[in-house]
Amino acid sequence: MRQVIAGNWKMNGLTADAEALTQALRDGLVKAPTGAVVVVFPPFTQVATVGRILAGSGIAWGGQDCHIAERGAHTGDIAPEMLRDLGATHVILGHSERRRDHGELDETVREKTVAALKAGLIPIVCVGESEDQRAGGQQQDTVGWQIKGSLPDGFGGADGSGGIVAYEPVWAIGTGRTATVEDIAAMHGFVRAELVRQMGETAGRGIRILYGGSVNAGNAASILAVPEVSGALVGGASLKPADFLTIVSAAT
Ligand code: 13P
Repeated sequence: MRQVIAGNWKMNGLTADAEALTQALRDGLVKAPTGAVVVVFPPFTQVATVGRILAGSGIAWGGQDCHIAERGAHTGDIAPEMLRDLGATHVILGHSERRRDHGELDETVREKTVAALKAGLIPIVCVGESEDQRAGGQQQDTVGWQIKGSLPDGFGGADGSGGIVAYEPVWAIGTGRTATVEDIAAMHGFVRAELVRQMGETAGRGIRILYGGSVNAGNAASILAVPEVSGALVGGASLKPADFLTIVSAAT
């Protein structure tokens, strides 16, 4: 299974920055082609610009969220079809920052996932425990409930390739505190077992599980070598072209 390296730009990128970053990625991957799937997630305002620069490059792009509805009276929201219209192929859903800042619950994330799938997007559904939950030894319970609540039946399709899960421990996001490879192995093994239990053997084994949380140019190779890690969801380091390209080059 080709690993997926996803760059979540979060709320960063005015036009000039977004253009420069995207062009640098495009040029970098021409010089050093990769076997990995590379996807970038600019803020909504830059999706069209990024898409124009990446068209035909082999690098995919997506949105950081989408609405449940196809259209209508939802001021400030973006429908999955609008992302498709800009050539997007993926969408991040249920990121912990949206769960925190917008009160998104598992049920909302599940409805968004259904809407994204209907529009033909591949959702990257994020799960992960907080610092307190880990301190209380509840990381597996928390993530198990999030998977159960956030993923609709049939997630991933027949072979699992239509959906992605990202395990992002909240305490590792933007903190520089990466989970240890032992922690990552334990949690990815657990997520795999849950996916197989819920989606069946074939889909459950085919769904990619990305790790996210302070992935950088220095630690990417060791993280990407952990069993059941099918790629990385990268925040801060995805804004630095050289670092992101190093992470891409560590993927298989
Ligand atoms: P950082 O890589 O900045 O820790 O962010 C991870 C993340 O939240 C990606 O979605």
